[in-house]
Amino acid sequence: MAAFYQLFIDGKWVDAASGRTFESINPGTGEVNGVVAEGGEEDIDRAVNAARRAFESGPWAKMAPGDRGRLLYKAAQKMSEKLDFLAETESKDNGLLINETKHIAMPATVDVLEFYAGLANKVQGDTLASPADRLNYTLKEPIGVVGAIVPWNFPIMITMWKLAPALAAGNTIVIKPAEQTPISTLELMKIFEDVGFPDGVINVVPGYGETAGQALASHSGVDKVAFTGSTHTGRLIMQAATKHLKPVSLELGGKNPNIVFEDADLESAVNGSLFGIYFAQGQVCASGSRMFVQDSIYDEFMDLFAKKAEMIRVGDPLDPTSQMGPQVTEKHLQSIERYVAAGVEEGASLRTGGERYQGAGGGYYYTPTIFENVTSDMRIAQEEIFGPVVSAIRFTDEADALAKANDTIYGLTSGVWTNDIKRGHRMARGLKSGTVYINTFSMLDSAAPFGGTKQSGFGRDLGIEAMDMYTQTKNVWVDLSDGLNWYGL
Ligand code: NAD
Repeated sequence: MAAFYQLFIDGKWVDAASGRTFESINPGTGEVNGVVAEGGEEDIDRAVNAARRAFESGPWAKMAPGDRGRLLYKAAQKMSEKLDFLAETESKDNGLLINETKHIAMPATVDVLEFYAGLANKVQGDTLASPADRLNYTLKEPIGVVGAIVPWNFPIMITMWKLAPALAAGNTIVIKPAEQTPISTLELMKIFEDVGFPDGVINVVPGYGETAGQALASHSGVDKVAFTGSTHTGRLIMQAATKHLKPVSLELGGKNPNIVFEDADLESAVNGSLFGIYFAQGQVCASGSRMFVQDSIYDEFMDLFAKKAEMIRVGDPLDPTSQMGPQVTEKHLQSIERYVAAGVEEGASLRTGGERYQGAGGGYYYTPTIFENVTSDMRIAQEEIFGPVVSAIRFTDEADALAKANDTIYGLTSGVWTNDIKRGHRMARGLKSGTVYINTFSMLDSAAPFGGTKQSGFGRDLGIEAMDMYTQTKNVWVDLSDGLNWYGL
């Protein structure tokens, strides 16, 4: 029988107020992975109130920053001990390969937790230059209750991008995981519960976006909304947050250019570009889904790229020899199929792939897919497919590459492959995106701020910079003179 998961509110595991539940499906098999309590408006309200109480009073409100850091470290330690279990849980929840959860996503998540644990006691304001008769300083204070709404592609990792800095800064949080992948986050909460986080500091309310997500984004008791997801939903979140004028950070979609110059090391550009698009079966906001290849090397590059793409082993995500797993849901798979049909209809040539992969059982598998003869006006060159589909486009020179690469509403990441150091840095300046990779792709580091420009959003997760999103500045004036008596009365 499938496991049953409740909501985590105020330090307790509880049913949804409505008593409703929903099924979470394992994308690798199509079978039910767990039954989960379906949170709604009333549950969000309970969770936000619990988070408010924990923020205003009780042990968390009084805890020294160093002690907050130590608690976060303890959770990181426990996560490391349970890394294999969490990796498998995540792979069953969203179909990421066990190799990717075990060796990339989970270690990266522990690293994020440790990074912010170390920053908990390094939040500091300034003493300002002031005349002798005045003291003027700033305090960096937590914002209050954070509402975090996260997507399904890296459930625990992206949750941690928000949870760790929010808690390090002294906030409390209500997390709304994606309805496709609530289970790994609920398992993660057991770890936070075990290490002794006070009640109400972290609350998790799984549920649907239109109900639980909307209720969280528009709740009067939430002081800041931290969102990662699609650009479409980002707009709705921003609208919901205007009701009480709360600050919002939005990490949204991408249609990221990956530019290969003729002077690049061909083999490493091919290998890096394969990772850039097919890692996590293309369900990566940072993926290099528009591949620009210089005319002079186009045929040679594409031959090798296609040959290797066809060799990628699609299969069961729990099998360590698989190289690409399933898409997250049947619905998402159908959306990828619609994009591939649109590409063919608009005149692009399907070089390889473009069909479901049938050899791996009942899950939602697709083949690594390449489109050539793509032009910038096609939907497959402009819209985020979020699957293993790359659109290859030719370019002539640096100026042409830059113009084509920047011809998008998005601006999340970009990649440049070149052995010309000056060209690499020139391109880095010219590309309109939050991250530029030179001779690599889809890299992440806890210390490196990550986020978008244009319609890929605003705000930065990760890095010391993310602490700014979870603190606010208070300015304090102290009069050291004989007193303020402007009116001489
Ligand atoms: P999504 O926008 O459909 O859902 C994201 C979250 O928002 C889910 O928890 C969902 O339940 C919730 N939601 C949906 N509608 C809502 C509403 N009306 N009000 C409040 N909440 C609502 O995105 P997804 O399909 O889960 O994830 C894929 C998208 O996320 C892609 O566009 C991808 O590029 C983006 N993404 C961005 C980053 C980044 O850091 N920039 C990282 C990962 C994924």
